[in-house]
Amino acid sequence: MPEFFSAPRVTLLAQPAFSAPAHLPVEWQGESTDGERLTEFAGRLCYMSQHNPAKRATRDYIENIKKQGHGSVLEHATYSLLLEGVSRSLTHELVRHRAGFAYSQLSQRYVDESQAAFVVPPAIIGDEALEGAWRAQMEAAQAAYVALVEQLMARYGWVADRVHRRKMAREAARGVLPNSTETKIVVTANARAWRTMLELRSSEGAEMEIRRAAIAILRLLQATAPGFFADFEVYEAEDRREAARISYHKV
Ligand SMILES: Cc1cc2nc3c(=O)[nH]c(=O)nc-3n(C[C@H](O)[C@H](O)[C@H](O)COP(=O)(O)OP(=O)(O)OC[C@H]3O[C@@H](n4cnc5c(N)ncnc54)[C@H](O)[C@@H]3O)c2cc1C
Repeated sequence: MPEFFSAPRVTLLAQPAFSAPAHLPVEWQGESTDGERLTEFAGRLCYMSQHNPAKRATRDYIENIKKQGHGSVLEHATYSLLLEGVSRSLTHELVRHRAGFAYSQLSQRYVDESQAAFVVPPAIIGDEALEGAWRAQMEAAQAAYVALVEQLMARYGWVADRVHRRKMAREAARGVLPNSTETKIVVTANARAWRTMLELRSSEGAEMEIRRAAIAILRLLQATAPGFFADFEVYEAEDRREAARISYHKV
């Protein structure tokens, strides 16, 4: 019986570690994290305003950058996340976000998918009949995959390199695996790029699974570095699902 995911698992892997240079001290104000300070430092360097004439707190400084649309300084702070419990159809949409993003995803050519998990599409969660019919399809697809790998391993028995033979079998057999197959992906992006992706994918027009993941990512990043993400507001949309809206569009 495969494992079924009803929600994504989002884990923070990395965030900036800022080392303030002793010869260019900034007069910091207010609470902040390293990623936010790095951004303020970069912004202040442009005008050599390390003495902070307006006595602005770091988060107010970043708020002003977002308001003015000077988003390039947000590119210094990068955040790496591990996404699990997401489907191949979600990651197919996610990797369309190019500028400022880096990806490393589980390979279905190398990894044995005979134990793969599946992600329940949000729209069918809670309806027993729909979920039952969907699960039966997933189990049948997985059984077909297992049988195909076995037959292909036998068909290409003459390939001496076993690793290569397995790859040949798995890359062909994965053709029967559905879009709902669970995958894992490491995603790194700078704060500006995350903002653009989150604006598009947490909105009401986005597909439900990526929208749910975008809300989970947003909450994690808001807790990690509020200065960059506090202007997103999560609300319950007309379709009774969460969505988010942004105050400063595309900085
Ligand atoms: C609700 C929704 C539905 C969608 N439906 C479809 C669909 O049916 N079919 C489909 O194919 N895609 C679809 N997409 C994907 C969409 O077309 C984009 O590929 C995706 O949203 C990434 O956006 P982007 O290119 O702005 O992002 P990024 O690649 O992250 O780029 C961010 C910004 O950088 C700039 N930029 C990046 N690359 C370039 C470049 N090469 N030249 C100039 N400027 C650049 C642009 O200003 C761009 O907005 C959909 C997206 C959403 C949110």
